[in-house]
Amino acid sequence: MGSLRLEMLRLATLFLALACFARPSPAAIPPEPPAVAVGVALSVEDGRTRLTVKLSRAVQARGFVLERPDRAIIDLGDVNVQVRPASERLGVVSGLRAGVIAPGRARIVLDLAEPARIARIETVGEPEAGLHRLVVELVKIDRPSFRQTVALGRDDRDPLTTGSLGDGPGGDSRPLVALDPGHGGTDSGAVATTGALEKDIVLAFALTLRDRLLASGRFRVMMTRDGDSFVPLDERVRLARNAGADLFVSIHGDSIGSAAIRGATIYTGAEQATDLESARLAERENAADLAGGVAPPEVQAGIADILHQLTLRETRGLSHRFANLLHGELRPVLGFSAHPHREAGFRVLRAPDMTSVLVELGYLSNAKDANLLLSDDWRRHTAAAMAGAVERFFGARLRGAAAAILP
Ligand code: ZN
Repeated sequence: MGSLRLEMLRLATLFLALACFARPSPAAIPPEPPAVAVGVALSVEDGRTRLTVKLSRAVQARGFVLERPDRAIIDLGDVNVQVRPASERLGVVSGLRAGVIAPGRARIVLDLAEPARIARIETVGEPEAGLHRLVVELVKIDRPSFRQTVALGRDDRDPLTTGSLGDGPGGDSRPLVALDPGHGGTDSGAVATTGALEKDIVLAFALTLRDRLLASGRFRVMMTRDGDSFVPLDERVRLARNAGADLFVSIHGDSIGSAAIRGATIYTGAEQATDLESARLAERENAADLAGGVAPPEVQAGIADILHQLTLRETRGLSHRFANLLHGELRPVLGFSAHPHREAGFRVLRAPDMTSVLVELGYLSNAKDANLLLSDDWRRHTAAAMAGAVERFFGARLRGAAAAILP
């Protein structure tokens, strides 16, 4: 069949980046400048609707489809892409728009004129041209298949991952787990009845959990800190998101006025705290930046658009799901507080697009908890149970790993 090439939207695009060098925050790792999108084009060939985006460097891209209205979403990392919205129809696409949904996260939305699936999503290097090309191909499918694809994508928001930057060497598609031991450096966190410091206890635990996850061979793991260093809260989230983490687990140990209170608690992010104690705890943890001499940045305004809200809602659903799995796995090995799963406005749980939980392993203000948290046995058992929850969370994806990368 002859190839019909309808080069249509030549959305010349653009530039910039340099402005982003402007604000180095003290003690923060200087951000990598965003990739630049130099061209976005849509074409139809052999029944496939193809989107191509020229990029100054390889970026991680993920695609999924949503219904009502039907659309294909392409999430990119730190890409500066400014595209004029288009509403002409070409192939299965009836419109296109793009923008930044959060710092370091760009998104392209393709409105679908008819149900379609993403048949290909790939970043291809073109060394002779000195650029990379993101290629996304859409193929028309029937409504029932589309619904199935939507449901799959919802359940496992990352069915399609390119083998590009952000993945491990050789296009490693194993889930990336970010472990975030709280505090560090000048910020010691809570002090246990034994005199031990929260920052040391949570680091030792996170390292044990990291080793456990790596030993399974099924995950990649990154740490927001793996030594006694101070890392600002937003920087922890940025590091994890830039690496393309699929799951973010922040590890803490709580402290409270009453020495009798003990047990672990799992927190997910929310604007409204479950109760006063959770709100106070989030306030204390959010003040960590002050202990490190960094003024907490203002909350990002102006990104609360519809896409942001949509992504956030999906992410919060996944975070709840992981919190429930975690509670189930940890219950046999860990005493829980009266309300084992609560919500509060933790700064490290605000990423709109990354499943995130914060675990308070126990109360350092309680002598029993404090002693437990220092025991090797306890650490090993608890890390094993947590690794079990991670396995269950990614279960479908691990089983379908081979099928996850489309041709
Ligand atoms: Zn803490």
